[in-house]
Order: sequence, then C-alpha cells, then structure tokens
Amino acid sequence: MKRLVVLGGGESGAGAAVLAQKQGMDVFLSDMGAIKPKYKDLLDRHGIRWEEGGHTEQLILNADEIVKSPGIPCEAPMVAKAMERGIPIISEIEFAGRYTDAKMVCITGSNGKTTTTMLTYHILKEAGLDVGLAGNVGNSLALQVAEEPHEVYVIELSSFQLDNMYDFKANVAVLLNITPDHLDRYDHKMENYVAAKFRIMRNQGPDDVFIYWQDDPIISEQLRHIHTEARMMPFSADHCEGCTAWVDDGTMTVNVDGTPWTMPTSELAIQGLHNLYNSMAASISASVLHIQNDVIRRALGDFQAVEHRLEYVRTLDGVRWINDSKATNVNSTWYALESMHDPVVLILGGKDKGNDYSEIEPFVREKVKAIVCLGVDNRKLHAFFDGKVPVVTDAGSMAECVQKCHELARSGDTVLLSPCCASFDLFKSYEDRGTQFKSLVNSL
Ligand code: ADP
Repeated sequence: MKRLVVLGGGESGAGAAVLAQKQGMDVFLSDMGAIKPKYKDLLDRHGIRWEEGGHTEQLILNADEIVKSPGIPCEAPMVAKAMERGIPIISEIEFAGRYTDAKMVCITGSNGKTTTTMLTYHILKEAGLDVGLAGNVGNSLALQVAEEPHEVYVIELSSFQLDNMYDFKANVAVLLNITPDHLDRYDHKMENYVAAKFRIMRNQGPDDVFIYWQDDPIISEQLRHIHTEARMMPFSADHCEGCTAWVDDGTMTVNVDGTPWTMPTSELAIQGLHNLYNSMAASISASVLHIQNDVIRRALGDFQAVEHRLEYVRTLDGVRWINDSKATNVNSTWYALESMHDPVVLILGGKDKGNDYSEIEPFVREKVKAIVCLGVDNRKLHAFFDGKVPVVTDAGSMAECVQKCHELARSGDTVLLSPCCASFDLFKSYEDRGTQFKSLVNSL
C-alpha cells in the first residue's frame, strides 16, 4: 500500500489527505504548528491519522511520496531530510490533478491573481458551467476532486504552489505579470522566481492555451528562450497586431477564434488599468471555453470587486474612502495610484519587504496631497517622501490613522489605504488591516 505523508494541515493539506485516503493510500498528516479545529474534524471524520505541534521523523521519512503545503519552505528541516532521502515532494494541486480529467484554468502572476481568478470564476458560473474555485482562493482542489467533483476548475496558483508541480497540465494558463516578490524564498535570485512562474506552462500541448500580458518585459524576455506548442494568446492595453485582446479608444476587443467581440471599458465593473488587464485575461479564458460574448459582457459588468482590492468603502462629506489593504508591494500601489483621478490622502506603511519607492514617486508627486505613515517604523518612508509631498505624518494605530485622514481630506479628495507593505507589524493580516479600516471609516 502506498504511504502518503502530508506536511501542513491547512486547507490544501487536509484536502490532499482526504483524497489520498479515498484512493486507498496509507495516509498520515503532520503539522509543526496547531491545526485548525475544522481540519481536525475533517481528518477525524475520514479516520486519517494526524499530529500537530511537531514532526515525528519515523512517521514521515517512511513515505513513498510527500504532499507539502506551499507555505512550508524547501529549507524546512523535515523537507530537507525527505529530499536527501529522495522522497518525491509534490504540491496538493499536482496530487489532485492525477485524479481528475476536468479542464484546468490556472492563473498566476505577481499581482492580480485573486481578482482575475474570481472574475473568471464569476463569468463561468454565470454561463452555467459546472465550475469549482481552487488554489489560493476557494476550497482545496483535492477535496473537491474527492467529494464534489466539477467539470472545470479555476485555480489561483502562487509561485510556491508551482514550485512542486511536475506532470500537472493547465488547459488554459494565465500569466498576468512578473515583478519582484517573495525573493527571500528564491535565493534572492529573480531568475528563480521567474522560472517558478513559468512552470504554469509546463506540459502544455497544441490544444492548450497560454494567455499572457504582451507588454511585460520579463515575460517577453523569458518567452524568447522557451519552446512551447501551446496556443499563445497575448493581451495588451494598446492596439496590438497579433494580440488576442487589446484596447483601442476606450473599447476592449477580444478575438479568440476570428470572430472578435467588443465592450466599452467604461462598462467594466472593476476600473483602473490593472483591472483592464485582469478583465482581458478573464475574457480570453472564457472565450476559449466557448462562453457566449453576451454572457461574458454581462458578467464583466456586474462583477463585485474582491474585498480589500481597491474596494470602495463610502463617501463622507464629499471624500471617497478606498480600501486597498491587499496592496502589499510597490507595484500594486502603483496601479492603485494610476487609477486615481482625485487628490489623494495616501496611507502607506507596515512591514517593508525591501521596497524601492521610486517606482511610485511620479504618481505620488502628481496626485498625493498627504501621506499618513502607518507602521511601527516609518523612518524609511520619511526618508523617501519628506519634502516631496506637502504633508507626511505618522499614525501608530488604525484609529489614529483614520482620524488624521479625516482631518486632512477635503471634499473631492480620496483617502486611499494602499500601503505597499505587509501588515504584520501592527495587524494580524492584510484582511485585519482592511477590516479595521472599513469599520472605523464607517463609524466616522
Ligand atoms: P494577488 O492575488 O496576485 O495578490 P490581487 O487580485 O489580490 O492579486 O490584488 C493584489 C493587489 O494588486 C491589489 O492592491 C490590486 O489592486 C493590485 N492589482 C490587481 N491586479 C493587478 C494587476 N494586473 N497588476 C498590478 N496590480 C494589480
């Protein structure tokens, strides 16, 4: 009997364990930390053995194969030992992919994954397809394959998930963009991170589709060195010969099979240049799956923005308040500022992952009237922005921050929480940061 060990007892690990059990394997799950009660219940219901708060080596290194949670780095001692022994280590997505023939629409990129995944899922659902949502958002792919299989899955893939994928094939692969992120997990080498992202097109053949942003310099450069049989479907925000989707004079055109269809960009539910890219990528994916144009257009028009991503909170005394707490790197804040038309009071700060703020400096100079620095250590922000913006001030809590923004903003301004940084210095997570912001803004 094959012994499968799962490292990590979160959504993906618990799901993989259930699928392995269903396939008749000898399954054991081990987590260094605490396992959430709902996953313990799931494992217990299926009679799967598990441990938490540490790894028992002899119960792990006798595995024929290991499914590793994407959160566990390769350098973790138990992973390193398993690798030394030559035990194959795969991801939950790789594992689940072996037990389904469903069509896989897979989405990756440095920014925009969740938005594009949710938007694509929304279109396919509106079209009446039997579709599941999986990967970083939604439920475990393995659990769905085990317990409620679908005909199509839309899957958000981080580079960490892609790292341990080998034979899995995306029928439709989307690569939105590549900018530096998570380099600490890639030996501080950009080429390693780029290579991880490109694993999304592994195993693709002539019946498969690769959708990508034509104007991304890193993607274009890498494609020069890659041989693939996949059908290439680039998109661009400019008019572009050979693109599958493009924009001209406020109109988006999508042409997958020689019968182009169009939509005014003003009718897209999610606005801003970055969301135009996301909308084009989702539209091409849906067209490839033969969804009718009018269904795609309707779904693009009524999609509800994903929480914490340029999410409109309220307008009070003529001031618009926007929650973009998920902007945890400089590039995502660049796109938030790009989409702003009013003077901005900008909330920046948190845990800096080695940011270079010069990327947003032109927009800050042009659009930002005040910066409120919300972090434990704001020195780097002051060093960069002092003197470039009329007001740069500090706040040590979200309550103080919202109060200061309230005092600084005038009718016609926008207060934008788009911090460029991770949240872990003052908050539990970016969700906690965004939720606190919204509740304080709503009680002003
Ligand atoms: P991810 O899942 O890749 O982190 P999200 O959809 O959660 O992406 O968006 C993260 C942040 O990036 C948000 O602040 C959002 O406004 C911004 N963003 C969304 N789409 C893009 C894009 N295509 N390019 C750059 N930034 C984007």
